[in-house]
Amino acid sequence: MYMTTAEIREKYLQFFQSKGHLRLPSFSVIPQDDPSLLFINAGMTPLKPYFLGKTPIFHTPEGEKISYRVTTCQKCVRTGDIENVGRTNRHQTVFEMLGNFSFGDYFKKEAILWAWEFLTDKRWLGLEPERIYVTIYEEDDEAFEYWTQDVGLPPERLHRFGADENFWPADAPSKGPNGPCGPCSEIYYDRGPEFGADTWADYYQTRESNRFVEIWNLVFPQYDRKDGGILEPLPKPNIDTGMGLARVAMVLQGVTDFYETDEFKPIIAKVVELSGVSYEGPSSLAHRVISEHARAVSFILSDGATFSNTGRGYVVRRLLRRAVRYGYLLGLREPFMHRLAAVVAEVMGGVYPELRENLESVQKQIRLEEERFFETLEQGVERLDALLSGLEPGDTLSGEEAFRLYDTYGFPLDLTLEIADERGIKVDTEGFQKALEEAQELARQRAAFDKDVFKRPNEALLAIARDSGGTVFVGYERTEETAQVKLLLAGNQSLDEAPAGTEVQVVLDRTPFYAEGGGQIGDFGVLEWAGGWAKVSTTQKNPDGIYLHLAKVEEGTLKAGTTVRALVDPHRRDTEKNHTATHLLHAALRAILGTHVRQAGSYVGPDRLRFDFTHPEPVSPRELARIELLVNRWIQGDFPVSYTYKPLEEAKKEGAMALFGEKYADVVRVVAVEGTADNVAAGTAISKELCGGCHVRRTGEIGMFVIRFEEAVSSGVRRIEALTGTGAVQYVRENLDVLQALSRELGVNPEGLPERLGKLQNEIKAREKEIERLRRELARAQLGGGTASALKEAGGYQYLAVRLEGLEVGALRSAADELLDKHKADLVAVGSGQNLVIKLSKEAQAKGLDAGAVMKRLTEAAGGRGGGKGALAQGGGFDLERAFAALEGALLSR
Ligand code: ATP
Ligand code: MG
Repeated sequence: MYMTTAEIREKYLQFFQSKGHLRLPSFSVIPQDDPSLLFINAGMTPLKPYFLGKTPIFHTPEGEKISYRVTTCQKCVRTGDIENVGRTNRHQTVFEMLGNFSFGDYFKKEAILWAWEFLTDKRWLGLEPERIYVTIYEEDDEAFEYWTQDVGLPPERLHRFGADENFWPADAPSKGPNGPCGPCSEIYYDRGPEFGADTWADYYQTRESNRFVEIWNLVFPQYDRKDGGILEPLPKPNIDTGMGLARVAMVLQGVTDFYETDEFKPIIAKVVELSGVSYEGPSSLAHRVISEHARAVSFILSDGATFSNTGRGYVVRRLLRRAVRYGYLLGLREPFMHRLAAVVAEVMGGVYPELRENLESVQKQIRLEEERFFETLEQGVERLDALLSGLEPGDTLSGEEAFRLYDTYGFPLDLTLEIADERGIKVDTEGFQKALEEAQELARQRAAFDKDVFKRPNEALLAIARDSGGTVFVGYERTEETAQVKLLLAGNQSLDEAPAGTEVQVVLDRTPFYAEGGGQIGDFGVLEWAGGWAKVSTTQKNPDGIYLHLAKVEEGTLKAGTTVRALVDPHRRDTEKNHTATHLLHAALRAILGTHVRQAGSYVGPDRLRFDFTHPEPVSPRELARIELLVNRWIQGDFPVSYTYKPLEEAKKEGAMALFGEKYADVVRVVAVEGTADNVAAGTAISKELCGGCHVRRTGEIGMFVIRFEEAVSSGVRRIEALTGTGAVQYVRENLDVLQALSRELGVNPEGLPERLGKLQNEIKAREKEIERLRRELARAQLGGGTASALKEAGGYQYLAVRLEGLEVGALRSAADELLDKHKADLVAVGSGQNLVIKLSKEAQAKGLDAGAVMKRLTEAAGGRGGGKGALAQGGGFDLERAFAALEGALLSR
């Protein structure tokens, strides 16, 4: 019985509602409160706490409800199945899992009987009972009895597997982990011999089948595994089931795979429309990968993930790039994935409203990411082009070159293979694999080495850390301090003294020098003592909280135990201005662009500040101007900057901005700019951040704030660089000077400059056009004279061989097109210098002529190299006379 995907989804949820289950909407694919997991990968995952005994209370539109039976249709992501997509007919990276769950309520018998009822009853799915097959865990006699006695399934349609197949987690009895686990029972549907010649008995051996499809897995978590593989029965066993919606849809719609189901067809159709390549033949793999990944990327981004180089962000990036690569193979040269996202939202947005609500931002992110990747691909193509033109058909491109393309341009091997193949060139894939492994090994060694260096401890340093609990930092209050030298280090060696000229790391008992951290650079300055001084270039802190002053002794000798005067360079004041301005900038970005803005990195030094943040698109000049103005208003408000220490939880509750993924101590420092009396009264501070850095006392000290530029860092991350104080004033002055010089030069007021420049540019463009026109005329003049008389015949083909002067390969190709059209020839060979292009008419191709084959014969007969296929071939290194002379033979020998 045909049923739409939507009908199946709805029936499932209604069926289990009728069995007393609370129906919940799908949870986000991004796990909440579960850092161990990248994505939700099964219906039960977001419900884990309730399986472990937490009271199942759920927020529903009708209020809070407690229910020990729940049913959902959950969006799931399985990154492990990425490479399966397009190759098997049953795996998606994002798929919908229907499930019914019992938190210590009903158990095995109900789960099995209900599954059977839902699958076979005419009012529900109405599948043919004779086509249903089942597997159970070898020791699960209970399940065997329910299936054979209560359901009446003939034992020959049932099979017992070991714990590797029918236990959750797999092999838990022998290998663990400890904790809840249990046997499972998988339900298969026999699609019939037309899908595969194998039998049910074959499936026991191969465990792979096109004919028998696993549609539903019933898991019975009934044990608590203890050390030594002891399985203690749980007092209240649970039920967790998962049915693949797309798999059931493909069964009920009688199609080979889920790409032909009703919810996938529109996406495939769009791929066909955009690429102009039909969904048949060998390229269908590309259609499948693209459409599946378009869906996956839409789902993941619409739940709030963004493209990046780690974790979730990396997974979506991989999916997008894999799809774009396949798009490239289909001939797509412009971003297309964002357009597919619209189709996904249209088809699935009814069930998953977030797809529609977030469509605009999702499309923007996708488009940006696509544009970048296309650029990379193009660069790679150019490089590959250069490499290949130095090779001849039959040659092999070295594995190292292929790897370098991959390594520097992210240029995938399969694309290299494809492009090289078009020219009849092979690629050393084994060499590629070897180069890849070597690079990975090198990276591993380097990482291990780095850590090693970092780990080598200095005993004296460790002792200080133990005794003192870290250096006392007084730099928030003052920039000068009297201190005692506790230790002098060179490399990892302790020194008793450091004479003039030596570079040492100085450990003091207390210091006003700020150690690099939180984006702020380490302080520099001077250490003075009776009889000498040393210059401190920067300050760092080790994990034990010991400050290391990197210093060079300039005069006298510095000895351990000496009392010194530690003086931070006055430029620290500029650093403080920049640091407070960074907080204000962060606040202004959130005020103007929105609260999705998150800090993604920063640099705060005396010379400038740099702030990286998440935002899906460039910040417009208008927005930048508003942001700059807002920060300057806050500066002019001359608000106090306060520092308080409080427990982390309390600080977070007050809304202090914490850096995502950053580890904080239990007690944190909160830096706040409260703002006006109204702000203070309303508790709406301008800025409140967890921060250990150095700041001005009042915002007025910053003086002035100017944004120098805004740019992209990576997809979804932008960067702003800005100046404060005197630096800002100088910058504005310099720019005004340039502007004034320009306006003198061009004889207009600064305000008139854009118009004047626009005019100049238009003039240049007009002239370029004119040159282009003349160039074309020249080519036409060459093509005009007497070429028709040169039309010859061989082997039943009309052909033309023409030499032109001074044309590049690209121009040769268009000349060939023009000639082909003009003379209604079957084949045109145009050459210039040593380059040669061969182009065929459709009719000649239909008669079985192939440009690549002709080119091959020419190279055999007349030297040169080249390749191609279908209507077009090109090559270089030819003696054109010889090549043209060989044409007749090449056509005759066909
Ligand atoms: P397979 O062996 O086919 O990969 P599985 O054992 O990984 O399946 P389960 O973890 O038991 O599957 O998931 C429960 C149900 O979810 C399966 O019965 C199947 O219907 C569906 N399912 C699992 N993985 C996918 C996938 N990648 N794409 C679509 N549906 C899936
Ligand atoms: Mg699987």
